[in-house]
Amino acid sequence: MTVITGEKKQSLNPILQATLQNPLNAYMLIGDDEETLKQALLFGASLKCHDGGCLKCPVCLQVLEMQNPDVMVFERSGAYLSADDARKIVALSKRTPKSGKFQILIVTEVHLLTDAAPILLKTVEEPPETTVMILLTTHLEPKLETLKSRCLQVKIKQKPTQVNQIDTSSSSILKNLNGTSIGITNAVNEYFSNIESNIAALKESQRLEIEEFKGSVEMQGKGNMTLLRLFEEQQKRQVRKARNLSQRAILSGLQKVIMSPVYDGILSDSKESVDFGGRFKAVDRINIYLKNLDRNPNDNLQITALFIDLSEIFS
Ligand SMILES: [Zn+2]
Repeated sequence: MTVITGEKKQSLNPILQATLQNPLNAYMLIGDDEETLKQALLFGASLKCHDGGCLKCPVCLQVLEMQNPDVMVFERSGAYLSADDARKIVALSKRTPKSGKFQILIVTEVHLLTDAAPILLKTVEEPPETTVMILLTTHLEPKLETLKSRCLQVKIKQKPTQVNQIDTSSSSILKNLNGTSIGITNAVNEYFSNIESNIAALKESQRLEIEEFKGSVEMQGKGNMTLLRLFEEQQKRQVRKARNLSQRAILSGLQKVIMSPVYDGILSDSKESVDFGGRFKAVDRINIYLKNLDRNPNDNLQITALFIDLSEIFS
């Protein structure tokens, strides 16, 4: 997996930058999964590179591609970061660097730890002198309290999305809203397949949770069946919530594109551009959908109605 190479030059968070000369034992980076991992790898590259993190030399590239033996990225083995995982992390922290002064041990998704915190605590508090621990979490919560207090906490801001870099799905949905009924059908399909792929990871982790649940309790008793049912209902609510969040993200993405100067470029097939009156109308129409989103009994029907309206405005 490559997370950075190929993109424009990335810059290291200023707090991390400030500690490069004398790295601390442990850091906790708080923010979006991808952004925190990027920062952790950039920090690792800066520590390992002979040029302070040029992002061009073989060492830097190796780190960014997660191929450097001294910059390890630990990912959980199951649905949670388990006690077993924690013991593996402790073992890894005791390795000696293959080259140079430091090895960097990056632990992803620390918010998913269960009973692993006490096992990790000592290592995070006092890792071997040659090991720098970097814990990544999307948010802080009570179970992370003790770990957190042993780390330098760094909030990683999400990169602002640039209007010029339109994601291809927004543009292909909009392109399809061209007044034809096949276009509307395509747009609706694309919309829902985007949502499904957005929540695929959640569904997979839920499947594992259920497996784990079934494995961990004796499933004969009636009480456990009730528990399982409650658990499944809770998962269904999670999916519904994630689906609505995903809808909000896609639709506000569409609104952004509609109001941006590059919008006309997307509709290059049609000669005329949509005037701003039309654009405002489209944005308003999407707002109405968003307002009723949580109460919609049938998303498919409502989205089709929305796309028919937008298609009329745009054509
Ligand atoms: Zn370098």
